[in-house]
Amino acid sequence: MNPIQGNVSIDAQNIMPIIKKWLYSDKDIFIREVISNACDAITKLRMVDYRLAEGCSVRVEVDKAAKVLRVIDDGVGMTQEEVEKNINQVAFSGAKSFLEEYAKDEDKENSGIIGHFGLGFYSVFMIADKVTIDTLSFREGAQAVRWESEDGMAFTMTASDRTTRGTTITLYVNDAEEEFLNYWRVHEVLDRYCSFMAYPIYLKEIKDEDVKVSGEGEEEQTEEKAETPINDAAPLYVKAPQDCTDEDYKAFYRKVFHEYEDPLFWIHLNVDYPFKLKGILYFPKLKEQFGGIEGQIKLYSGQVFVADNIKEVIPEFLMLLKGVIDCADFPLNVSRSFLQNDGYVRRISSHITKKVADKLTGMFKTEREAYEGFWPDIHPFIKYGVMRDEKFAERMKDCLLFKTTEGKMLTLEEYKRANGEKLENKMVYTSDAARQDAAIRLFTERGIDVAVMEHAIDVNFVSYMEYSAGAESKFRFCRVDAELDSLTSDEAAENIDSEMLTGLIREAAGKDDLEVNVKPLANEAIPLMLIEDEQTRRFNDMGRLYGRSEFSMPAKYSVVLNARSKTIRKLAEREKDERSLLLTRQLVDLAELSRQPLEAEKMTEFIRRSMEIVEMAAQL
Ligand code: ADP
Ligand code: MG
Repeated sequence: MNPIQGNVSIDAQNIMPIIKKWLYSDKDIFIREVISNACDAITKLRMVDYRLAEGCSVRVEVDKAAKVLRVIDDGVGMTQEEVEKNINQVAFSGAKSFLEEYAKDEDKENSGIIGHFGLGFYSVFMIADKVTIDTLSFREGAQAVRWESEDGMAFTMTASDRTTRGTTITLYVNDAEEEFLNYWRVHEVLDRYCSFMAYPIYLKEIKDEDVKVSGEGEEEQTEEKAETPINDAAPLYVKAPQDCTDEDYKAFYRKVFHEYEDPLFWIHLNVDYPFKLKGILYFPKLKEQFGGIEGQIKLYSGQVFVADNIKEVIPEFLMLLKGVIDCADFPLNVSRSFLQNDGYVRRISSHITKKVADKLTGMFKTEREAYEGFWPDIHPFIKYGVMRDEKFAERMKDCLLFKTTEGKMLTLEEYKRANGEKLENKMVYTSDAARQDAAIRLFTERGIDVAVMEHAIDVNFVSYMEYSAGAESKFRFCRVDAELDSLTSDEAAENIDSEMLTGLIREAAGKDDLEVNVKPLANEAIPLMLIEDEQTRRFNDMGRLYGRSEFSMPAKYSVVLNARSKTIRKLAEREKDERSLLLTRQLVDLAELSRQPLEAEKMTEFIRRSMEIVEMAAQL
């Protein structure tokens, strides 16, 4: 053929410099683009005749000495006309509007998603000084064509010496991007973007020796790294669920997420209608109780990696899961505005939520024991999801469990049924079972279940549960040390000088208006308790949770003196003196200590006073 020269398109003059200037982050996306094109070329061949595509593969060669990266496929190839049409007359319109939008975004606030925006074949010019395409179409009588360009704008087309069907893209990597001549760097990028692509991909490093001493001895042969594909062309999620074993799921999880620990359970998504959606969502084990749980949801489109953790597709609360989702109709190049305005994206998202809820409620109904076993690990996501997503909450509302201090797992209804006679429309809970042990016992000794709500999310969750029960229901959560009505209301304190004790406590605490109640408690061993108003305390807990303790409200608490306690009775009988004040101060501090650590100054005083009491005891 006669050499043809030309310019790619009018727009390219404007676009190419912008591509180079703006898309500095995630340049590695070019690898995804050329390799997905190579896979597409094989798929096209397969559509012509599936037998032709058998054994087809993509080969990537890193040639450091020549400063060249090659991507070679044996797909359909292109005729001269096809190169003209597909490469030279590119429709940059989509890219153009994207880039305009991106250029406006001064803060690069969207860079997470922007980085994943590919520009198709032309993205290679982000890293290459020169690019050639050598291609031979599968069509009979086709002539091999070589296309060459240095800047993605001006090109030449000549005859190529290629003799086999397919396409070779040769990238002359520019000096600034020489990382892409490093075998392991390229390997890493392939792992990220191409690990599930549908045809085998081989990566090979071309060594100097390969050229110089080729064919000499076995040594060189074993050095070749191209024997096994770097990808899994048939990842587990594309298989039918009935063909996958538990071990398959676990192995896939370990491999894809580099995890050593097995997941708790998983959901295999496999939908054809109304949209194509495949994937596996894993529920990981909680690593540490209060630590953050970091999930990862990888999004693919037709086995090509698109991005991690796209919150428009995966409901935010499910970001705590790990998994892969493949939406075949999802474009590779996603822009924020597409994600936000697309009904398709919203439908995917709500479908995923529904599937997760179905799995959980199904387990609750048919495998209650297993569900209870998972609960300690999964409850944070479920609670979070319930608070974030109304539909999810509606589906899950009867499957929420409350673990009691005695290890029972009860739904709200079950709790009410078991305790309703002793508690009026209430659930008693502890936020710290060890510290609040004394108060917990006041309830458990009377056969009342105490729910353990120790996770950070529970601070919000109790309020949510009350709110969602509706104002008319008057249902309340009540911390064990927030209210003793249910324990004390029946009996009045007799034969004890309440007035005297009230004065003593007020003086010891240094608060004239302190509310003091003298009541008989079930447990004699507790002399004194601090009761903090549930709402005020919750407000302050919330503030602390969000690091805004400067807005805290003054703690509203009252003191309950146990009329059954021997110590209290002794104090009531005694004339008020230094010693009874000293002991009362100690009791107040002990009660406070069982709620929270003492402040430094109080702690020092507490220790000093304890010494004094020890000395007093030693003298007796
Ligand atoms: P897209 O893949 O979205 O169509 P690209 O810019 O990635 O856009 O590629 C443009 C076109 O160039 C492709 O649609 C295809 O027709 C052609 N092409 C690119 N690479 C190859 C290849 N390796 N083999 C055959 N055709 C190719
Ligand atoms: Mg492409």
